[in-house]
Amino acid sequence: MYLINRSLFICRTVILSSFLAFFKSDASSNTSVFLKNIARLYSMGIRSNDKKIELKNRYNNIEFEKKGRRVWINNIMLYLHKPCQKVGKSWSINEDDFRLNIDPIIRSYKNSSKKTPKKIVLDPGHGGGDTGAISPNRVLEKQIVYDIAILTKHILIKHGFKVYLTRENDNYITLDQRVEFTKKIKADLFISIHANAASSSRSANGIETFISTLEGFDSSNSYGRLNNRVRVPNNKYDFSNAVLGYALQSNLIKILKRYDRGLRRARFKVIKNSPCPAALVECGFLTNEIEESLLRDKNYRIKVANGIANGVRAYKAYILK
Ligand SMILES: [Zn+2]
Repeated sequence: MYLINRSLFICRTVILSSFLAFFKSDASSNTSVFLKNIARLYSMGIRSNDKKIELKNRYNNIEFEKKGRRVWINNIMLYLHKPCQKVGKSWSINEDDFRLNIDPIIRSYKNSSKKTPKKIVLDPGHGGGDTGAISPNRVLEKQIVYDIAILTKHILIKHGFKVYLTRENDNYITLDQRVEFTKKIKADLFISIHANAASSSRSANGIETFISTLEGFDSSNSYGRLNNRVRVPNNKYDFSNAVLGYALQSNLIKILKRYDRGLRRARFKVIKNSPCPAALVECGFLTNEIEESLLRDKNYRIKVANGIANGVRAYKAYILK
């Protein structure tokens, strides 16, 4: 259905050659897709107000902000690689954002691999001399994320997964060693676990998940600045990354009920070199007074672990659908 409708689908305003790019999963595209055509494809109604355009049917709703890169799919935020744009009288988004950002979430069943994820690598960030973030009360990120990783491991084992940790104690390992370990055991998914810190503001708070930036685009947190827009090894898993990232972010928000900072894009070493679908989760800000006390609380860490485990289980259910 998608291929048949394609001539309707693309804004003809942009380069013709990118039509071919559609068939090449590794090419970045300058082509746009009209939101009205996405609505048609998904059998959704479309309406707009001053700030947003909403696509909706009985199963899903997608809200695009008119002046920015944010989208909410079923109320979970994610960042587009390019802002929503008005072409003539119609709003559109970049084609790659449709193909490899929105569509994997709405139609996760299109994933071609259908490989049941069994081996999960959990990567507690930092360790040893690398403490990671330090809270005003001297709580160390490396300890918090290690505890969360152990708790997540126990939950996932109960659900039949084989779980490996990149570090089994408080030792220092390099980012490359974490990737090498993931390759060696032939993992199906890689999840790096971190707690956030803001250098200037104590008010910054909330949960965010990162997955690899698509080839040819800026990462979310350095949009418009000098970026290295290269293809990275993990771009092989762009479709699955989006499914995994959304599954993790939505399940973390659901259970933690903290501010949703969204599913974002970055070329962090551990995810960009990962040999399987990969994500990095930030479970709260150690520099925020409320979240620091939450992260110190075992019950909150258990909730984070359940959020991550639920995300892994949701990913499995989505791709096998
Ligand atoms: Zn960290």
